[in-house]
Amino acid sequence: LPGDPITDLYTRQVSDCLWSAVQPTPVKQPQLLAYSPQVAEMLGLSDADMQASALIQTLGGNGTLPGMFTYATRYGGHQFGHWAGQLGDGRAIYLGELLHAGKRFELQLKGAGETPYSRSADGRAVLRSSLREFLCSEAMHALGVPTTRALSLVTTGNQVVRDMFYDGNPQLEPGAIVCRVAPSFTRFGHFELLASRDELPLLKHLIGFTLDRDFADWWPSTGIALDIHQPDPGLIEAWFAEICTRTAILIAHWMRVGFVHGVMNTDNMSILGLTIDYGPYGWIDNFDPSWTPNTTDAQGRRYCFGRQPDIARWNLERLAEALASVLPANHTLAQSLAVFDQTYVRELTHALANKFGFDQWQDGDGELVNQIFELMQRAEVDQTLFFSRLATLDLHAPQLSTLSDAFYTAQGQQQFGADIQQWLHHYTQRILSAGIAPATRLQKMASANPIYVLRNYLAQEAIDLATAGDHSRLLTLLKVLSQPYTWQTGMEAFAQKRPDWARQKAGCSMLSCSS
Ligand code: AMP
Ligand code: MG
Ligand code: MG
Repeated sequence: LPGDPITDLYTRQVSDCLWSAVQPTPVKQPQLLAYSPQVAEMLGLSDADMQASALIQTLGGNGTLPGMFTYATRYGGHQFGHWAGQLGDGRAIYLGELLHAGKRFELQLKGAGETPYSRSADGRAVLRSSLREFLCSEAMHALGVPTTRALSLVTTGNQVVRDMFYDGNPQLEPGAIVCRVAPSFTRFGHFELLASRDELPLLKHLIGFTLDRDFADWWPSTGIALDIHQPDPGLIEAWFAEICTRTAILIAHWMRVGFVHGVMNTDNMSILGLTIDYGPYGWIDNFDPSWTPNTTDAQGRRYCFGRQPDIARWNLERLAEALASVLPANHTLAQSLAVFDQTYVRELTHALANKFGFDQWQDGDGELVNQIFELMQRAEVDQTLFFSRLATLDLHAPQLSTLSDAFYTAQGQQQFGADIQQWLHHYTQRILSAGIAPATRLQKMASANPIYVLRNYLAQEAIDLATAGDHSRLLTLLKVLSQPYTWQTGMEAFAQKRPDWARQKAGCSMLSCSS
């Protein structure tokens, strides 16, 4: 709509367009708590640039720099299995696109104030959730997991009201804003909403635009010409298969590193196959496929660790339904779901072969691997420590004691110790009979098994300190997690299993959607 974009904030159903011009709502006193040197460099920003007050003001939502154009986009989504209608960027405001070194990036301020899509919420984010998004997106990138990135973490100087966290009573919390960076923040839900509203010319245009801008390095490989307003049905079908492939690769990574997204609604699924929207995510400590950090999902466990592949596939089905509305009835989208299945199995077995140090995945490995995962679950064994200790096993005289510090309870170790010892025996036979060179095995294992992950309690400790005004821990973690596969002297404290006190503590193992 024409008019003053600053006042164009009223909450509404938007029709037949994809975005609304909107400006961040100013805050009291932006302060830069941390920034990612890697992302700054990727964007061509120097240390001095990052310390400049004009940029910090902008990253806190106080005004824009020349050339920036700010807006919020319109999307919908399936939430917890149900169609939720229009959602949209309720608290994320784009700063426009930045071109640097031949690459294109979208920048977004998350928590920068209300937009037409804010519904009943305030458009703000609090320090704890912003710190979690900032740290985790950078940690995921360092782990080799496709993800959106984070440039900066800025506190606003304003207080934000939040409830449902510590004790169910509304609390005032420090506000903060993360500047997120990605080639594209487009979600499955952008396409779904247009299909659900029967806005088909716009849907076709969005598909064409996305292919042209975000899949420019892919679509020419199909040999099919691209008409941005009327993309070819065959091209759309091939594109959906590509999305299935990327999504499968993404989920295999999550399973490899022990990441639980926590809210895999279709509005939180990136069209590029990136991890997007870090909310009540968590990391597996003791291996448990039924675990979810999201207390909002505690009953159904829809988004627990072990269900992530199935949910991703379900979400792809919803995207396929949306795309089908611009395809002839005999489209082949359903066949691409098999591409998801095949790619997932290929990627996961490849990752598992590396994690266990196998030369390659072979018949019988599935059974061997399932046995230990089941034992790990029953005996309460830490997934990350298990794999880093397994690498140090004496293959000729395997000892359960090599794994001792991966057990959460003495009881688990006692009860399942003999079974695990026996499994170690089978495992070493598997390794020795394949004749894989010890150095090759160790190298494979080291490349797939992180030493440092952002365990929930580690994030919470950094949050507690930052809230008290000390952000040194945040900076230390940012650094340590940038090299997750490398032992770092003096950083042993960040490579331990979850301490007992953190087991049931809010923030450390339990989080809610509201942040
Ligand atoms: P999420 O569950 O975080 O993926 O959010 C779902 C929807 O709620 C999205 O449309 C968000 O933009 C919106 N949303 C979440 N938190 C807020 C907030 N504090 N203010 C406005 N919109 C929000
Ligand atoms: Mg979201
Ligand atoms: Mg969110």
